[in-house]
Amino acid sequence: MSLLTIGSVAFDALETPFGKTDKIIGGAATYITLAASYFTQKNNLVAVVGGDFPQDMINLLQTHGVNTDGLQIKQDEKTFFWSGKYHTDMNTRDTMDIQLNVMEHFDPVIPEAYQNCEYLMLGNTAPAIQRMVIERLHKRPKLIMLDTMNFWMDVAWDDLIQVLGMVDVLTINDEEARLLSKEYSLRKAAAKIMKMGPKTLIIKKGEHGALLFQGDRIFFAPALPLEEVFDPTGAGDTFAGGFIGYLASTDDTSFENMKRAIIYGSAMASFCVEKFGTERIVNLTEQDVNNRVLEFVKLASFEIH
Ligand code: AMP
Repeated sequence: MSLLTIGSVAFDALETPFGKTDKIIGGAATYITLAASYFTQKNNLVAVVGGDFPQDMINLLQTHGVNTDGLQIKQDEKTFFWSGKYHTDMNTRDTMDIQLNVMEHFDPVIPEAYQNCEYLMLGNTAPAIQRMVIERLHKRPKLIMLDTMNFWMDVAWDDLIQVLGMVDVLTINDEEARLLSKEYSLRKAAAKIMKMGPKTLIIKKGEHGALLFQGDRIFFAPALPLEEVFDPTGAGDTFAGGFIGYLASTDDTSFENMKRAIIYGSAMASFCVEKFGTERIVNLTEQDVNNRVLEFVKLASFEIH
């Protein structure tokens, strides 16, 4: 089944306890489409970059089977820029700088060939743009998933609440779930958020895994305890790309299949954090992915007598 992804395509500057990078390629949609490319061949991107964005990176996306016909290049403008600094625990970070640049007036154009996508991934970007994309599709996709972050809760609360009413699955981290629901207990937070629109909620907890909520059902997926975590940037997006890529490839949106998808998403995210930026997720093999998933199965299986 075909997947349409929108979201930021960016330059990032990162600082972790292990080192610092100058501008490297990042952005939510970059991580999502790369991760999803391991599952689906119909992987369509809608995003915007400036004339400063390297053609090499667009070529790399294309070699991963990503259709970039929906990637607008504004020659005279600059690509979205984000800079983040991680605390020593690597689970929390501060945004040091954010320059919306081309994203500020982004008018998403959906190529005709993308119109009948069955799965829509609204990656991190302004909620008003996320809504515009839903409205510009002639037919509602079978499943719409949305990712967002605290920044948009601070600057675009009303737009966010509006678009939440239009989606099926929301993925946010624990801090954002508390901010959105004004509840500390994640269970209470989930109940409140599911009343805002999404029937399914995924709360990411970094190195402590992820929780999947749907109605009264809850499933927990661990994160793989890794010896070294270099850079958590993009882990959430890589997770989302693995999750929705797996759902699109199996075309099964049942809760049971979402449990499998959350493990595939977690496996993809575990690769992402092993190196800086997108470095680790650009040349994985199917075998690498399957072996990693088996590690999760071993990690979380037990028998009871
Ligand atoms: P994650 O670590 O999965 O939360 O995502 C990190 C990516 O999100 C980085 O590559 C950034 O370029 C991108 N990003 C950070 N802030 C924003 C924002 N406000 N809107 C869109 N993308 C963002």
